[in-house]
Amino acid sequence: MDTRKVLKIYDPAPASDGAGVRLLRAIGSNELNHFDPFLLLDEFKSDNADDYIAGFPSHPHRGFETVTYMLAGVMRHKDSTGKSGDLHPGAVQWMTAGRGIVHSEMPIQKDGLIWGFQLWVNLPASEKMRAPRYQNIAPEDVPIVKRDDGVTIKVIAGEVDGVKGAATDIVTDPLYIDITIPPGKSVTQPAPRGHNAFAYGVEGNAIFGDQTLTPSRLATLGDGDHVTVKAGKDGARLLVLAAKPIREAVVRHGPFVMNTHEEITEAIEDYRSGKF
Ligand code: MN
Repeated sequence: MDTRKVLKIYDPAPASDGAGVRLLRAIGSNELNHFDPFLLLDEFKSDNADDYIAGFPSHPHRGFETVTYMLAGVMRHKDSTGKSGDLHPGAVQWMTAGRGIVHSEMPIQKDGLIWGFQLWVNLPASEKMRAPRYQNIAPEDVPIVKRDDGVTIKVIAGEVDGVKGAATDIVTDPLYIDITIPPGKSVTQPAPRGHNAFAYGVEGNAIFGDQTLTPSRLATLGDGDHVTVKAGKDGARLLVLAAKPIREAVVRHGPFVMNTHEEITEAIEDYRSGKF
């Protein structure tokens, strides 16, 4: 059994997206363009409405999956098929854009804290033009594993102690967990060898061997068959993700991620002519 070691710890880059939402970009930045199959990871966290009120008005996606996980505040989602819904704290939306969707994500609050994560997960060429699909998961439908030592693990995707995650049937077989560890306790979680894995600090100090991950920083993890992390004296909360790498060419242009430049041109033309 090999424990995955920290490869590198990254400081996310401050960025602005949508109509001017200020956020931290941990994947999809100059320093870490992508970490196959993960294309983007943004953390948005602010109690200043100026930072988020403009939201993410109507925009398209093609060729990958977008995953929103809310920790605080409420975002309203609407799409081109007429569906809409509110994402409350603890909610997850796993959207497989496939061949194309147009949607908006707007805060419904005028003040107070809004905090969450947006992840983009790539699709292999064979799935990029599949039909779009949503998995809208209410906060109470995210399974929580509670261990005897006080560790709690919210299972967004993957499997922990035999408990299956809320989001299912995803081609890259992802693990996406939100772990809270009491002071000095540790967690060992399998993550299949060959899958790419990373951790993102949420609260406290998360200790991986001789490396410490602090909040709002990302640690890429080397190969192995499990992740072992220990909390510092104030406890720790962190996200741990892993998924099967796709190992295909990545050509990205804004909200489209395909395998070739020709497919990007086609996506732009299809969007302009209203085919989404
Ligand atoms: Mn979007």
